[in-house]
Amino acid sequence: MKKRVAIMGAGVAGLSCAFNLEKYGIYPDIYEIQDQIAGRGFDHTLGWMNIMYRPIRDPLKFLNNKYGYNIKPMAEIKRLVMISPRNSVTIDGKLGYIHLSGPDRRSIYQQVYPLIKRSNFKFSEVANFRELAQDYDHVVMANGYTELTELCGQWNTDVAGFVRGATVYGDFDPETIYMWFNTDFAQHAYAYFVPWSDRKGSLTLNMLETTVHGGAICWNRFIDYLDWKIEIGDIWETVHNLGHVDKYFYDNIIFTGAAAGCLDPLFAFGNVASFVSGGAAAMHLAGKGDYLNETKFFRERNKKLRTVRRYVDKFTNDDFDKLVDFLKTPAFRTMATKTNVNFVNIISKFVKTLVDPEKSDRILYPGTKEVLQDEK
Ligand SMILES: Cc1cc2nc3c(=O)[nH]c(=O)nc-3n(C[C@H](O)[C@H](O)[C@H](O)COP(=O)(O)OP(=O)(O)OC[C@H]3O[C@@H](n4cnc5c(N)ncnc54)[C@H](O)[C@@H]3O)c2cc1C
Repeated sequence: MKKRVAIMGAGVAGLSCAFNLEKYGIYPDIYEIQDQIAGRGFDHTLGWMNIMYRPIRDPLKFLNNKYGYNIKPMAEIKRLVMISPRNSVTIDGKLGYIHLSGPDRRSIYQQVYPLIKRSNFKFSEVANFRELAQDYDHVVMANGYTELTELCGQWNTDVAGFVRGATVYGDFDPETIYMWFNTDFAQHAYAYFVPWSDRKGSLTLNMLETTVHGGAICWNRFIDYLDWKIEIGDIWETVHNLGHVDKYFYDNIIFTGAAAGCLDPLFAFGNVASFVSGGAAAMHLAGKGDYLNETKFFRERNKKLRTVRRYVDKFTNDDFDKLVDFLKTPAFRTMATKTNVNFVNIISKFVKTLVDPEKSDRILYPGTKEVLQDEK
């Protein structure tokens, strides 16, 4: 008899899981709280930076080849501008891809949704994971948040993240993205701009350890600082916790996507890892692969990035200026654009040399316990 599988959430991980389960003749029920496929419910652009996935050279080709999605980007990222308080660097090359998230018909969600042919979508359903776990053989937790993983006792928060952003209108280069590092408004996270087109883009401020109230204050500071001629359209905000799980399985539940710690603890990028974790859960349930093996790359990469996060959390604005100096070196430019050198390995070793030595022995939060033990 076929296994009965419920997927909680029709986001990146949930859709990926359903699409891959169908390849093995399993047709899950997919519970989606919204009345449509829409990610977090609002349209915004996404950046996929190739350098974060090495030794995978091209994450889009990797996903399309491995799973057969045929996802098309909005544009390629050909230029990255990074700005710290007193420094900036521009890097040119084939740097990655721009995609859309949300209900827009061109979004990555809307591109994968039609590939799922026979599964049963249950829209506008507020799924209760305890009931699903009783009613089905397996539950794939793909709800995009971490609270339920925590309820199952499996979640460790590394970064209590919060994000606020807006659709903005102005004159833009559709292949250039911007990142700002500045503790005055972004604490130890960053702000970024990813265009939709030459007239429209998403401006986003990622923050750590803040709330709705603090997020609005930091956002206003960022907008005051930004000397761009733009018109601000719809504003969105959402919690964005980053962390890792102890176990990926709890009873008959498998955690995937953001609920399984797929977001990286440095930039909070999580699309590619969430696609992979959904595919891996499907292979696991169909007896065609091992979930832990299939997701090993992202787990190990994120562990290294937790080390990086531990040091970046101590950065002063001067340290961010020094980081930009490092990014200006010919060695970094060559590494970023002309080689396939594993950037995460390098930065996880190098980052401690950038921190103001007076602060280098400060330990900020217990979530990095495991990383500290590994370093000893
Ligand atoms: C503002 C923002 C910007 C981002 N930018 C980037 C980026 O530039 N690059 C990048 O790689 N990543 C980025 N990410 C991260 C990326 O979006 C996530 O890593 C990825 O979407 C996680 O996939 P997921 O399937 O776990 O969750 P999601 O894609 O969020 O899907 C979760 C789904 O579950 C549904 N759901 C929630 N609760 C329930 C419930 N109780 N019952 C039923 N359904 C439920 C939701 O409605 C949603 O459809 C960004 C995230 C945000 C919020």
